[in-house]
Amino acid sequence: MANSNTSADKPTQPSPEVMALWPKKSGNAINGFGEDWHKPRPVFWRSDGKSISHTDVLFYFYAKDRDNEAISASRRYREETKAIVTSDIAASKAEGTPMKWSRAIKKAAVEFHADEVGVCAYKPEWTYDDRPVPRGKWAIVLGFAHDYENMKTAPHEKAYVEVMAQYARAGAAAKHLANWIREQGHFAEAKTGPSTEDVLMIPAAIEAGLGELGKHGSMINKNHGSSFRLSMVLTDLPLQPDAPEIFGGDEFCLNCQVCAKACPPDAIHAEKQKVRGETKWYVDFDKCLPYFVDNKTCGICLAVCPWSRAGIAENLIQKMARRRAIEVPKP
Ligand code: SF4
Ligand code: SF4
Repeated sequence: MANSNTSADKPTQPSPEVMALWPKKSGNAINGFGEDWHKPRPVFWRSDGKSISHTDVLFYFYAKDRDNEAISASRRYREETKAIVTSDIAASKAEGTPMKWSRAIKKAAVEFHADEVGVCAYKPEWTYDDRPVPRGKWAIVLGFAHDYENMKTAPHEKAYVEVMAQYARAGAAAKHLANWIREQGHFAEAKTGPSTEDVLMIPAAIEAGLGELGKHGSMINKNHGSSFRLSMVLTDLPLQPDAPEIFGGDEFCLNCQVCAKACPPDAIHAEKQKVRGETKWYVDFDKCLPYFVDNKTCGICLAVCPWSRAGIAENLIQKMARRRAIEVPKP
């Protein structure tokens, strides 16, 4: 189905430079747009840059603003956190109940500066089809809020620097938390973005109660709106899962077009689409990514989302709860 964005403005067109590098294969086809269920395929963010179809575009993106000091510094900061050494797993295993460990890892995650934390059982179908299913029964998903004032400048480079700062914070916290678990004698491995390599983070974050999927294809969290990043720790430590939290984010998107109207290349579908067998909100990769690459970054959709504005979420949650309360029960 075509995107039925109601924007009166003509969508922004991609540059000839990016189009010259664009592969023949559509990113939407790689994502499984319109297809029945299959395992996810990697579409862009991979540190080797070569196990994807969009290798030339990815390398162009990284090379393009190499001389921009603010962007280079933000990438260096991210690389430094990636270099945090992984601790050995202690020989003696500390014992505890799932409840005790869940409380302990949440306390530790907050001490490592996570703004949100939730737990769910890791599902093998969240693994990219070209990578083995990673070890770890449980996924601990961590959320890190952006500075909203910086995100509001999107697509200015200030927003890119902000995103990289939060990826760095998210990466450091996941590595420190994994090390903390390993030092208790249990297996744990950090998964960090933007190149997560083998796992999808959003489905795990939804399952772990960090929020709902929004029309812009990112998550909406009830405390930080759409303005946050994720990281994850996979572990065999016995844990107690959290439940998905439905507070009205998905339902609110049914009647909101703010992000779709603000998206310069008109990439946000007004209605849910079938993707890998699931009907869900979806962003047209072949429209979004060229704009993102041409502008160093984007994130306009995250910044304009009403849930992202400080002090608004509580009112919106109450509004959605009231709406549900007055719905007439079906016979
Ligand atoms: S990141 Fe930018 S281009 Fe992509 S969907 Fe959001 S607003 Fe549109
Ligand atoms: S801007 Fe509106 S439609 Fe878009 S994700 Fe936010 S609430 Fe949903």
